[in-house]
Amino acid sequence: MTKNEEFKSIYDYTLDELKGMLKPSFRAKQVYNWLYKKYVSSYDEMKNVPKELKEDLEANYPIDVMEIIKREKSLDGSIKYLFKLRDGVTVEAVLLLMKEKKIGEDGVVERGEKYTVCISSQVGCKVGCSFCLTAKGGFVRNLTVGEYIAQIVNIKRDNNIPENKALNIVYMGMGEPLDNFNNFTKAVEIFSELDGLAISRRRQTVSTSGIASKIKKLGEKDLGIQLAISLHAVDDDLRSELIPMNKAYNIASIIEAVKAFPVDTRKKVMFEYLVIKGKNDSIEAARKLLSLLNGIQAKVNLIYFNPYPGTTYQRPEVKDMLKFKDYLNERGLICTIRESKGLDISAACGQLKEKEANGSTWDSTFDIYRNSSGSVSSRFLCK
Ligand code: SAH
Ligand code: SF4
Repeated sequence: MTKNEEFKSIYDYTLDELKGMLKPSFRAKQVYNWLYKKYVSSYDEMKNVPKELKEDLEANYPIDVMEIIKREKSLDGSIKYLFKLRDGVTVEAVLLLMKEKKIGEDGVVERGEKYTVCISSQVGCKVGCSFCLTAKGGFVRNLTVGEYIAQIVNIKRDNNIPENKALNIVYMGMGEPLDNFNNFTKAVEIFSELDGLAISRRRQTVSTSGIASKIKKLGEKDLGIQLAISLHAVDDDLRSELIPMNKAYNIASIIEAVKAFPVDTRKKVMFEYLVIKGKNDSIEAARKLLSLLNGIQAKVNLIYFNPYPGTTYQRPEVKDMLKFKDYLNERGLICTIRESKGLDISAACGQLKEKEANGSTWDSTFDIYRNSSGSVSSRFLCK
């Protein structure tokens, strides 16, 4: 365990734990209210909490205000963040804005905004997928529970997102959430606390590269969250080339674990399928995918491979993506293509890597957020 994993912030604790720690216990609810409904960044702001308690909390359980070292806004309003953690390492999170169509009581169509935040689980990743930039840097460390929570609170504070505005969380940023199992599941619990952020578990989706044993363990916990599987291939040879861990947990073992996973009857398990030109973009692959998912409450999300310098893999042709999608939809398997802009960035959320300024690597859909001196010291590698 590195030094930072021993670091305790107030965000590490569930409400019940805080009730046990603070006397009298009603203080816990007050503190939770300030932290998660008002997003305070200092104990000073907690008006109804006694000074001694605030000093004690400050000394032992500081509020983890992560430094935002980069912020990029896309043309569709989505914002990509680079956070610096206490030990100097960095992780990314993305706020995605999606248009939401609502029919009002008078039948008038209203356009609202739907917020989804894509958050990271680890600095680096052990899984080592051959197409993923996060994997290239190896594994550095797990995020703490508090660092999961801090990503959301910092983004809500930074955007003045009202406390009661519905928000979705996707665990699709850097790293493998199920490889940080205990911290990840505790974060789910804290996020859903009604006296806190109150983010319903149905609005939380975990994406995993397919650690079958952990999918089973997660299913047994029956947290009520949504599951997304990064499948990417329909035969084990190709999947093992893309995701080496497939040698330990092959496709059949993942399908078996998914079948045992408790899925809300109104919901489906999402199968993410990263499409790489000439590798897995054929109709033959679509046909195998259809039969593989037979009998599962499944939907498929096709993701364009995002190339980066040094990779031999290529982005697929639009026409092949459409053919693949139509093939599945026509046969009753719901299939969507992950959109560009914010959503595209979301897909790449775990793969973006900080890079020294090099104009050619910018994603053109993003405006550059400039710091006060007007300069940008480093950039994300996105497309
Ligand atoms: N480790 C988890 C969650 C983070 S990765 C997982 O693998 O599911 C989130 C998604 O981004 C995964 O589906 C992953 O396969 C995809 N991804 C990784 N590299 C990509 C790239 N270069 N282009 C597009 N999507 C990519
Ligand atoms: Fe890790 Fe997911 Fe990247 Fe694979 S795709 S290396 S599991 S972050």
